Amino acid sequence: MSLWRYADRLPVEPLVTMGEGGTPLVLAEHLSELTGCEVWLKVEGANPTGSFKDRGMTVAVSAAVQEGAEVVVCASTGNTAASAAAYAARAGLRGAVIVPEGKIATGKLAQALMHGARVVALRGNFDQALAVVRELAALHPVSLVNSVNEYRIEGQKTAAFEVVDSLGEAPDVLCIPVGNAGNVTAYWRGFSELGDSPALHGYQAEGAAPLVHGAPVSQPETVASAIRIGNPARWEDAMGAFTSSRGAVRAVSDAEILDAYTLLGSREGVFCEPASAASVAGLLKHGAEGRVVCVLTGHGLKDPQTAMNRASSVVPCEPELAAVEKAVLG
Ligand SMILES: *Cc1c(COP(=O)(O)O)cnc(C)c1O
Repeated sequence: MSLWRYADRLPVEPLVTMGEGGTPLVLAEHLSELTGCEVWLKVEGANPTGSFKDRGMTVAVSAAVQEGAEVVVCASTGNTAASAAAYAARAGLRGAVIVPEGKIATGKLAQALMHGARVVALRGNFDQALAVVRELAALHPVSLVNSVNEYRIEGQKTAAFEVVDSLGEAPDVLCIPVGNAGNVTAYWRGFSELGDSPALHGYQAEGAAPLVHGAPVSQPETVASAIRIGNPARWEDAMGAFTSSRGAVRAVSDAEILDAYTLLGSREGVFCEPASAASVAGLLKHGAEGRVVCVLTGHGLKDPQTAMNRASSVVPCEPELAAVEKAVLG
């Protein structure tokens, strides 16, 4: 069932949709054992283009169509580009995505291009790309679909509704990766609309942790490209959410992120992207109590190269039973 089951709490009609939301909430038995909590994984990689961005995009592009926009633009580290491109294609709008040159994962570039978007490689980082598209949108009649767009937050809040509906009540703690901080803002809005208040535990990568340090980071660096952001657009909203929920925002290292990423794949059977694993890395590092939901924001297939660098290598084999026996069972 798509997120449009919550249409009465959304600000537009579903004009551009392809079944986004309704993603699995999976009990993580191994992680529960490791942490002493009851850990659930919200598998957002199961959305149509492979990330939670589709929740916001179906609402934002529906609004763009209603408002008569012809062009949809965004700055992106990858997932927003793929999602905006797909929904623009479906709506018959022109899509343009500005990405940091050389810093976008293969899977996401392929998606954006296949959906016919104009992909612009900016010689700069995400924060610079966002600043320039904001200027562009102020001067031209284009619809900006980054998470500065209120419709994005509205769509994304439905993930909180789904978590509460699946569990029958709100969890004690929600662990979530934080980049531009739109998603944590959206979860907080969703829980608040239901009158719930789980503690929000946000995690940034050590090399891109402006909210943890209380100051923008001019050259953010981390393996987790989706949270490689030095100046979050939703700074105040996110800090408000951490404070109001009696939660916290903390940092995890790239090594901790990659360990959690590998553990999720090898022990829980869930292949997410590195940025997503920050939620689990944070839980493992800082702990929590009670029933915990970790948001796995995007699918691992986005970035096959990081996976191949981590995983064990392929076993070569001759086409004979003895050789296959040795290769498989040895
Ligand atoms: C966008 C994104 C994030 C960060 O979400 P924000 O709303 O920018 O905080 C985390 N993980 C993935 C996979 C993403 O695509």
